[in-house]
Amino acid sequence: MKYPIIIIGGGIAGMAAALELAKAGLEVLIIEKNESLGGQAAAFACMATNQCQKCDACFAVQLRAEVATQPKIKVMTRYEVIEVAVNAPTVEKSDQKSSSTQYAVKMQPVMGKPGNSRASIVIFRTEVVLIASGYQPFSAEVRGEYGYGRYLRVVSSLDLEQVWRKHGNLKSTYGHLSQVAFIQCIGSRDRRTGNPYCSKVCCGYSWRMARRMQWDYPEVEINIFYMDFQGRRCDFLTDLNPRRLNDKKISLIRSIPSRAYQLPGQKVVLDWEVTESGQKAQAEFDLVVLSVGIVASDFNYKLNQQLNLPIDKGGFLLPEGNCRERRPGDLLAGVFCAGTCCGAADIWTTIIQGKSIAGQIVDYIDSNH
Ligand SMILES: Cc1cc2nc3c(=O)[nH]c(=O)nc-3n(C[C@H](O)[C@H](O)[C@H](O)COP(=O)(O)OP(=O)(O)OC[C@H]3O[C@@H](n4cnc5c(N)ncnc54)[C@H](O)[C@@H]3O)c2cc1C
Ligand code: SF4
Ligand code: SF4
Repeated sequence: MKYPIIIIGGGIAGMAAALELAKAGLEVLIIEKNESLGGQAAAFACMATNQCQKCDACFAVQLRAEVATQPKIKVMTRYEVIEVAVNAPTVEKSDQKSSSTQYAVKMQPVMGKPGNSRASIVIFRTEVVLIASGYQPFSAEVRGEYGYGRYLRVVSSLDLEQVWRKHGNLKSTYGHLSQVAFIQCIGSRDRRTGNPYCSKVCCGYSWRMARRMQWDYPEVEINIFYMDFQGRRCDFLTDLNPRRLNDKKISLIRSIPSRAYQLPGQKVVLDWEVTESGQKAQAEFDLVVLSVGIVASDFNYKLNQQLNLPIDKGGFLLPEGNCRERRPGDLLAGVFCAGTCCGAADIWTTIIQGKSIAGQIVDYIDSNH
């Protein structure tokens, strides 16, 4: 390999893959637009009560520390990749193994990079690109019927994470809490928003937040409005025993509220239909948490246009893009993708994907270079 492998995105997928590639003796360059590595997971709060709740957010810190000690991995932070272009295959010898498709990866410094005000666009060449650019959380404003952005006590799950992370408690921000509601599947399993798929992570994280909330504030009553429960770590499903739920003051309501509203100085009111009877119901809450899901990032659409990388209806990169069988010179030879840029996944699954794609890249390089 003439050039280092370029990994676009230093989240969980990018770091997991980089470590495997470095262990295989390959040079890697991670390009990350944020100030530090870790991706979305690096911003999550610890949900431990008297015991770890296995949210896996610790992996962001752990992988970042491992990357820092690996000399084969170079990192450029605060650079955003804006274009990936194919260069014509180069043939240096008659031997086909030394011909390869090269890619020009164009990046620009993120505004405000300290000491880099005059830095301009940088272009690197490479024969192997791994796209690990992740996802965007669903914007809760899109579901206007809940008044996110208008009502102070209607928040997204990520807002709650941030408050916990910053203050270590919710009371200093939201005051006394006695009734809290979570509304699941915000921006997922919803054809109106164009996202019919399940985001796979939000049942688990809402459940962990609910448990953490009850640990911090045993007086709080929590109502989770849901369609059904999904997730890889289904240990929370064992807690869905009515007696245990009663002990924990967590109620599961199988219905999704039709709207939320709040009069000045009052609580948030939710309207919903009781699934079993079809009757209308209404209740007041001190806080309503919208469990936002995972959506494809705009960067996927850019790559689809620039490289003709296949995407699915939701905008996620299709894994068929990962084809180690391709020979150098074939269309998209040497382009791989992993992690949530390819679809909703939790942290653990993303690590597995990152490691497994690294294995595919090693195979590709072994057979072609
Ligand atoms: C509200 C919410 C809560 C969640 N809670 C949990 C949980 O408790 N447990 C769990 O297991 N999972 C959880 N998840 C899922 C978890 O966030 C993902 O599994 C994980 O972050 C995926 O990592 P990734 O590397 O694929 O993507 P990301 O974390 O999105 O990382 C991608 C990286 O690429 C960078 N990047 C993107 N585009 C570019 C570009 N053009 N140039 C340079 N860099 C770029 C980004 O800055 C980012 O650092 C949650 C998700 C949501 C939405
Ligand atoms: S896995 Fe999650 S809950 Fe457990 S210690 Fe780590 S951050 Fe906290
Ligand atoms: S994980 Fe749960 S809340 Fe999230 S989309 Fe799937 S069913 Fe809905």
